[in-house]
Amino acid sequence: MPVVVRFAPSPTGFLHVGSAHSALANWLVARQSGGRFLLRIEDTDAERNRPELIENVLEMLRWLGLDWDGEPVHQSDRTDDHRRAALTMAEAGTAYWCDCTSDEVQARARERGGPPGYDGHCRDRGLAGGEGTALRFRVPDGRTAWTDLVRGEVGFDNAALEDFVLLRSNGTPVFLLANALDDAHMGITHVIRGEDHVNGTPKYLMILRALGRTEPVAFAHMPLLVNEGRKKLSKRRDDVSVADYRAEGIVPEAMVNYLSLLGWGPPDGVEVRSVAEITELYDIGQVNPSPAFFDRKKLLHVNGEWIRRLPVDDFVARAAGHLPVGDGPLRALVAIAPLVQERVRTLGEVAPMIDFLWLDDPVVDEAAWDKALVRGKAAREVLDAAIDELSSLARDDDGAAWSAESISGAVERVAATAGLVNAEGRPQMSKAQAPIRVAVTGRAVGPPLWESLAALGSSRTLARLTIARERLG
Ligand code: GLU
Ligand code: ZN
Repeated sequence: MPVVVRFAPSPTGFLHVGSAHSALANWLVARQSGGRFLLRIEDTDAERNRPELIENVLEMLRWLGLDWDGEPVHQSDRTDDHRRAALTMAEAGTAYWCDCTSDEVQARARERGGPPGYDGHCRDRGLAGGEGTALRFRVPDGRTAWTDLVRGEVGFDNAALEDFVLLRSNGTPVFLLANALDDAHMGITHVIRGEDHVNGTPKYLMILRALGRTEPVAFAHMPLLVNEGRKKLSKRRDDVSVADYRAEGIVPEAMVNYLSLLGWGPPDGVEVRSVAEITELYDIGQVNPSPAFFDRKKLLHVNGEWIRRLPVDDFVARAAGHLPVGDGPLRALVAIAPLVQERVRTLGEVAPMIDFLWLDDPVVDEAAWDKALVRGKAAREVLDAAIDELSSLARDDDGAAWSAESISGAVERVAATAGLVNAEGRPQMSKAQAPIRVAVTGRAVGPPLWESLAALGSSRTLARLTIARERLG
């Protein structure tokens, strides 16, 4: 039997990494089995629904490369069918009408002193439907169980479930009804979704069983994603939207790769790999049901690995979207791209690393300034000697001698002049580099210094060294 899966987002927010995690699992299962991956927009919650967010969800799926089969379907298009199915249950007696108000339900629960919830008050009252009556499902005795590819056999005792509402008193079908019926209608064979839906699954199954509809072969409830505090990722505390990661300069290859590693790992332990390889190796049956830590640091690491795998032209093209507009920034990047590509973890880190190449007044990291120039050993001597050596280099051959190699030679002489030599009399290059780097680029870290100064040019390098020396007094 061919596999049919679906991703069923509710357009109530930007695509969340937890949803993307489930979407990816669906996509992988479909693509590894030659099955179909369908998309259903669950847009029946009129209050929370924000249609303008559908486009964000689709755009993020496209960005991740999770292509779907056919056209997305909209749950709201089938509301009449959902209502009709509920009425069938009312006729068959598997559902009944109830006119209790929620105040009444609560008051009775208080009197009982038991758990809150509906007590079946109207089960045998034989009420007719109409204004102010809701339709409730008559939960049968017994157990409701299913095969969960992630959690094994899962079962609920039906006695723990109240007779839940199918149609609200205003006639609108509840989410669970629409959700279960649409899966049956679309021929979904495997329901792969977040673990927050486990508790709704018995109701989902009871509805389909009451209607004699074919139920999915299996479910897979994916682990919850949690932060370092082991708390569910939340919009308020954590970065949860895929769009934010894209804006930060995570590349889609890395995002997909990292999401695949949440709750799962390839058997050989090699984690950074292409989606094609992951598709071959992925095994939903091996997904760990315990909450998975969404580890930002690891995502950044995987992203850095992916950035380094890009051909340099591709890296430049993608990083360009994260630079300030204009020729200057792009030219600066092109001049030094391979060196930057080796050092960033996100595309967003590119601009601050090289902005000294296009800004007239580079941003100065005051902590770096203090460490390298105020408290640094022989900082004044280094700057004096650097101005001296680099000026003469700038004059040689009318500036043609200004190259990474000659600059490195000059800084070696600077170290010696400033007395920065070790016991064997060798120049201590990193001690000489630090004050020069901060004076010229404003920061303690960046691309290799020789190439940075070569790309910056002699006049701007010397001007910045001079200003820094004056500031130091
Ligand atoms: N629309 C539901 C959600 O966004 C998904 C339901 C499902 O996958 O069955 O949480
Ligand atoms: Zn009632």
